[in-house]
Amino acid sequence: MQPTFILALDQGTTSSRSILFDKTGSIVGLAQKEFKQHYPQPGWVEHDAHEIWETQLGTLVEVLAKGKIQPQQIAAVGITNQRETTVIWDRATGEPIAPAIVWQDRRTAELCDTIRSQGKAPLLQEKTGLILDAYFSATKIKWLLDHTPGAREKANKGELAFGTMDCWLIWKLSNGNVHATDVTNASRTLLYNIHQLEWDKELLELFDIPASLLPAVVASSGVLGNCEVIPGHSIPIAGVAGDQQAALFGQLCVDPGMVKNTYGTGCFMLMNTGEKAIHSTNNLLTTIAWQLDGKTEYALEGSVFIGGAVVQWLRDQLKVIHSAPDIEKLASSVPDSQGVYIVPAFAGLGAPYWNAYARGTIFGLTRGSNQAHIARAALESIAYQSADLLRAMQADASIPILELRVDGGATVNDLLMQFQSDLLDCHVVRPIVTETTALGAAYLAGLAVGYWQNKEELRSLWKSDQVFKPTIDIAKRNSLVQGWQRAVKASIVWANDHT
Ligand code: ADP
Repeated sequence: MQPTFILALDQGTTSSRSILFDKTGSIVGLAQKEFKQHYPQPGWVEHDAHEIWETQLGTLVEVLAKGKIQPQQIAAVGITNQRETTVIWDRATGEPIAPAIVWQDRRTAELCDTIRSQGKAPLLQEKTGLILDAYFSATKIKWLLDHTPGAREKANKGELAFGTMDCWLIWKLSNGNVHATDVTNASRTLLYNIHQLEWDKELLELFDIPASLLPAVVASSGVLGNCEVIPGHSIPIAGVAGDQQAALFGQLCVDPGMVKNTYGTGCFMLMNTGEKAIHSTNNLLTTIAWQLDGKTEYALEGSVFIGGAVVQWLRDQLKVIHSAPDIEKLASSVPDSQGVYIVPAFAGLGAPYWNAYARGTIFGLTRGSNQAHIARAALESIAYQSADLLRAMQADASIPILELRVDGGATVNDLLMQFQSDLLDCHVVRPIVTETTALGAAYLAGLAVGYWQNKEELRSLWKSDQVFKPTIDIAKRNSLVQGWQRAVKASIVWANDHT
């Protein structure tokens, strides 16, 4: 018998990828195509939904062709995607009515301010677990309906469909037969009640969005339709989750208290809180982790805006390193940062501080400070910010953390990982397969079709590459953290003092 595989479609913000996994959870094939970012006005970011589909389909065909894999060898397709990005299309023609509005797009910030001034933010947090922000889909949908000629009339007649990128891909893969999204993606729209598990009528009214636009909401693991794009073959689409939730699953953080942090351009930390949706008092988001085996599990989420991007800044702006990996050697050339702290608030500070006016600052410079100290402080700032998130999660959830599972481009940096462990006083675990996002989608799909039997089987597949253990003494840790907190406080004072 020929071996079979699970195909994960990873629809990211800058590229579409198709990755094949085998029964051991190892990657056996990968194809990737970038697509264009459109910036039509300051603060606006758009994608061409057609191009997203074409690049996604292109990688699907390519990964099969490269590995000489027959479609019948694919047991199931799983999808993971950039979250919140919004497209609306015509149900009859399948044509998008306008470019997709990307999660980073700020065009609806003022609309959010208006809704905030009506005192609606607490209601939204209560029902959706989210903070009222342009980031999420609801105001993007409203904007498209209000600014695309004829859209509102068509929407009122039920002729249009809304979807995030998972939903758009499901529609295209199923030849327009299925209009569905999974609970994790629905939970990022500001329209989905994460407790009642339904589109919320009161919120639809608040944003003036007709219910007829909305997709059916399905579990993250379960056959929801078929991929019909390869003539003569029908492959079940069996797993869907937004990228961060998929990464949490790919890291097998399937028990309450398990946490993953992704160190990319920014950092994304999610903590599994089990079947309990925890209301955050520390400005974290409450979100659905996944729905699986009839159970809905939740997560707390926080993000750091500038993570690995501070390394890019040292490379591209200060030009103290040629390439990102050079930072480790430079930072390792000194035993510590000699009291230098960088607060890389280039775009304000996120959770738990939330200060849009904060800007990047360097504190503690002396005549002896050199490039290496700055490089070390930059690297350490990624760990300090992540530690702040974890502390906020611990405070919200009152769950002790035993280990932090990590992935993303900056986790190759051993110095950073060791410092993270020292700061958190817990194990920092880097797995062998760091493509955790695609892996999570593959696992969700594979479980649904019996390719893998259960979570226990998956647990046995998860393998750590390296475990970083704390080595620092308590007094040193405390003094480092105090220094960081002083630096953050000072940068906030500086920000708030503006007139
Ligand atoms: P994204 O998915 O956000 O594009 P990646 O997971 O590909 O991010 O990670 C890229 C980020 O990791 C960049 O910001 C880069 O500066 C950082 N990075 C890459 N290699 C290293 C390294 N050796 N040490 C520290 N940071 C690194």
